[in-house]
Amino acid sequence: MATETTPSPIAAAALAAARRSFESLLGAQNVFFTEEDQASYQDKFAVRDEGHHPAGAVAPATVEEIQGIVRIARENKVPLWPISRGKNLGYGGSAPVLAGSVILDLSRMQKIEYDEENGTVLLEPGVSFYDLYDFLKSKGMKHWLSVPGNSWGSVVGNALDRGVGYTPYGEHTSRICGMEVVMPDAMVVRTGMGALSNSPTWQLYRYGFGPCWDQLFVQSNFGIVTKMGLWLMPEPESLMGMDLEFDKPEDLGPLIDAIAPLRREGLLQQSPTIGNWLRAAAVVTTRDQWTDKPGALSDDVIAAIRKKFNVGWWGVSLRLYGRESVNKAAYAILEEAMNRLKPMSVVPTTWKRGEPLEATGWTGTPLTFPMQNANWHGGRGGHIGFSPVLPQSGSAAMAQFRRTYDRYKEYGMDYQASFAFGERHLINVNAILLDKDDPEMMQRVDPFIRTLIADAKAQGYGEYRTHLDYMDAVEATYDFNGHALRRLNEQVKNALDPDGILAPGKSGIWPGRYAKERAA
Ligand code: ADP
Repeated sequence: MATETTPSPIAAAALAAARRSFESLLGAQNVFFTEEDQASYQDKFAVRDEGHHPAGAVAPATVEEIQGIVRIARENKVPLWPISRGKNLGYGGSAPVLAGSVILDLSRMQKIEYDEENGTVLLEPGVSFYDLYDFLKSKGMKHWLSVPGNSWGSVVGNALDRGVGYTPYGEHTSRICGMEVVMPDAMVVRTGMGALSNSPTWQLYRYGFGPCWDQLFVQSNFGIVTKMGLWLMPEPESLMGMDLEFDKPEDLGPLIDAIAPLRREGLLQQSPTIGNWLRAAAVVTTRDQWTDKPGALSDDVIAAIRKKFNVGWWGVSLRLYGRESVNKAAYAILEEAMNRLKPMSVVPTTWKRGEPLEATGWTGTPLTFPMQNANWHGGRGGHIGFSPVLPQSGSAAMAQFRRTYDRYKEYGMDYQASFAFGERHLINVNAILLDKDDPEMMQRVDPFIRTLIADAKAQGYGEYRTHLDYMDAVEATYDFNGHALRRLNEQVKNALDPDGILAPGKSGIWPGRYAKERAA
């Protein structure tokens, strides 16, 4: 792999000194600074291959070691980029915003504490969805996980980047209850009830007394999370639902307007995702099996894909969890609401406790096959996310769809998108499929994404999460009162981290020391 050339503002001598101190603290076997090591922490999906090259990585096993690393970083003014398992694919993987940062790889820290009665866990950052699933299975599966489409990652890391899953516990960040955090001055803090040194309610009551800090460590660069409390869903008595397909692009609006009130009133507790026709094809086939023509897929190819997989323009899965009698009553209401929309097909699904459980996202079983879509173009495939937050309105979603789909055609990209419900909002998740071996395409991707960000901003929409390359661009759209939120973030950042050692540039938050690194 080619070494990247972007100059880093971090002095080589400072890095060399920090490296020696890291080695004496952790042992050379837990310090990774060779060119091969650097490459292994690179973002394989990045649109630009320059810009995010880490200087190396360190892998502590304890909180005390993390404190030691933080002290060394401060002494040498070397920034750290914490990752849990670093599988944030489409958003930057394990790479830092600022070239020359040292990756703080927490994947060796894998302890799980389980409160079976209350259905909570206290996790270290290295626990993957597979680890937690295996653990819960070994305890009789009394609680279900909520997993994202990419379950390779860390449960903690995913919640810290506001990842989502398929069950009623799918908004992972809202299930956080209490954290342990190492601050940029190496102080260890416990949030919420954990601030009582002998609390039995750390994972039970989120807010503690006074300000509640948990969310300040989410998508920020204010601290290193070393433990996270999370609530788990008790195994339901029954699971019922239906998979639906809809024929026409314009079916999207009425579908959203039918689901939204059911979601808001709580009849539907899980957050459904409405996805387009490419989702199956991109996972099990490659583009060249359908066409050799450049540009966005033609209507003929779209029709062929839909026919082969027997899917609509849009598809959605709805699921109900809980007592069987309640689910049956709710199902009848869902069925009536959906039948009014005249779906192309409806496939019902039911499960009762004791029956064999299908391994899907809706049953909280870790999965990775959705990531297979990175192979759509073959070559060095990847995808990058564009995910603006919209109101829960059919007409707003239709307008967003039309505007965005036109841009895909204009830039010659294949449309892969979904509209994912929250309780009160929709997120238009676009997983833009790319091929890094196609330089001509890679030229188009960057202006395409920047255009999408600008189009969304023109409507007053902002992204909920973005790739390292676009953190400054997205942050800049949050512009009320002359970027007052930026000033607040910077005030907090500079107060907590005057040397700017923690993840400079994360979420567009730049410490004073690196202020000039912000993209114009
Ligand atoms: P996953 O492996 O679940 O995809 P990552 O480890 O890639 O998660 O984490 C996603 C992002 O969240 C990282 O890029 C980093 O910015 C932030 N992050 C992850 N773990 C921590 C942590 N323990 N403390 C602070 N920030 C973190």
